[in-house]
Amino acid sequence: MRTYRVAYLGNDSEAAPLLRAALEKAGLEFMATPRDSAGIKKVADFDCDLVLWDLEDANPNEPTPMEQLRKAGLENMPVAVVVPTGWEAAVAGSLAEGAVDFLYKPIEKDPLPRILAALSTGQRQRRVAWANRVIEDTSRQIRGILANMADPAYVVSPEYQILYMNRVAEEIFGEGLRGGTCYHVFHDREEPCEVCARSKGAARWRSVLKNGKSYRFLSVDIRNSAGELERLAVATDVTVDEEVSKIYKTFISNVSHDLRTPLAAIDQYADILRDGLAGELNEEQKEDVDVIKRSTFRLGNLIENLIDANRILSGRLKLKMERVNVREILDLVLEHLEAQARDKGLELKVSVPDDLPPMYADKALIARVIANIAGNSIKFTEHGVVQIRAGYIPRDEGRIIISVEDAGIGIPTEDLGKIFELFYRVEGDKVYVEEGAGLGLSISREIVRAHGGTLWTESLEGMGSAFHFTLPVHKNESGAH
Ligand code: ADP
Repeated sequence: MRTYRVAYLGNDSEAAPLLRAALEKAGLEFMATPRDSAGIKKVADFDCDLVLWDLEDANPNEPTPMEQLRKAGLENMPVAVVVPTGWEAAVAGSLAEGAVDFLYKPIEKDPLPRILAALSTGQRQRRVAWANRVIEDTSRQIRGILANMADPAYVVSPEYQILYMNRVAEEIFGEGLRGGTCYHVFHDREEPCEVCARSKGAARWRSVLKNGKSYRFLSVDIRNSAGELERLAVATDVTVDEEVSKIYKTFISNVSHDLRTPLAAIDQYADILRDGLAGELNEEQKEDVDVIKRSTFRLGNLIENLIDANRILSGRLKLKMERVNVREILDLVLEHLEAQARDKGLELKVSVPDDLPPMYADKALIARVIANIAGNSIKFTEHGVVQIRAGYIPRDEGRIIISVEDAGIGIPTEDLGKIFELFYRVEGDKVYVEEGAGLGLSISREIVRAHGGTLWTESLEGMGSAFHFTLPVHKNESGAH
């Protein structure tokens, strides 16, 4: 470990040996040199931690110790002045200039404690100076980044006053707006926007500004050098993104609605054929028509999922709520699911207790949640049973729980958190990639959420999966069970 080094700059032939004796006895390195420019040079080379600067017989016009050290490139060198007893004015002046401490002469018998205290204050002073430099450098860099950013950025006070705008912000909103309030300058409003007023820390929001363009904002709280909280906001122009996304959503919506009509016709004509209304069919022809029916069901499900995904993305998912039984809902999908299971040689078991209370739900949407989940179970299972169960949970004013369990390929743990994301599909060497668009689960979760329920899964890779969702029972029925 490096020992502390102390230098004495002065011409007092009595003080120097006393200081040397005390410091060297304590294991510190010491150097004494006359107080002139050569002495200052020696101090610089000695790389010391504290300079004891003797002010006795200094020329009154001489610059202060701190100034002389600064000139020699030692601006952060801690200094303690050494003065004859009674030189209070010199001590006060030096402390005001930045000296860390002082020693009176004649040097007392044991000057060590005082010098150690000065060393410690000096260390602290150096650390603070270093931290200040880092802060200054960092804020200069941040100001540089903000100034040259391609996106508009600004800083507002807690009272929403614009304190800073970067070049791009000034180009868009105009110069000379500092001092105005952000809600007035950007939005022409008389009071703060709700998001700004409500949010603390980081916030995100979108808004259309006075220039007619859409921006996505990201803001964070920052502290200025006086320790006061300010808010830095960066805006990204998303006008084009929003237009593209609107075109995309309209396109998907038009195409999927246009697909519905011919698909319904195919399904109806398949019914006519199956029911023998266009002439009796033999067994083989009946099986062919069944294949058409199953394919139209799957295609229909995909189209409805696309339409729902679009509605969810545009925040337009509407529920047609009614009092409905689990059985009635299952009736809408079981026939098709059973046929899908049969095709794969799987058994589809359904268990619904007779005394289940009715729910309050959108029948068609919940039917599709079941079709999506159970359809997946059939798709990802090669042997055995797929089981659909319903039950009652007397929690939260009564809930119905519907579970679908399979003994299929399971879902790798690292994918479990992601399968509910839009368009996410498990892919990789381990998994045989079945057809699918990665829509079913994300839509199902949104549908269940919109009903005030929860959808979750448990799965072990190679062992199988279980998906469960809960829905509230019909209001008039709660507490009855
Ligand atoms: P997809 O239309 O691709 O099936 P989903 O959103 O319904 O889309 O499912 C997302 C992914 O989750 C699937 O591609 C599959 O990898 C995985 N997955 C869903 N259900 C199961 C299941 N029962 N067993 C194994 N993997 C499943």
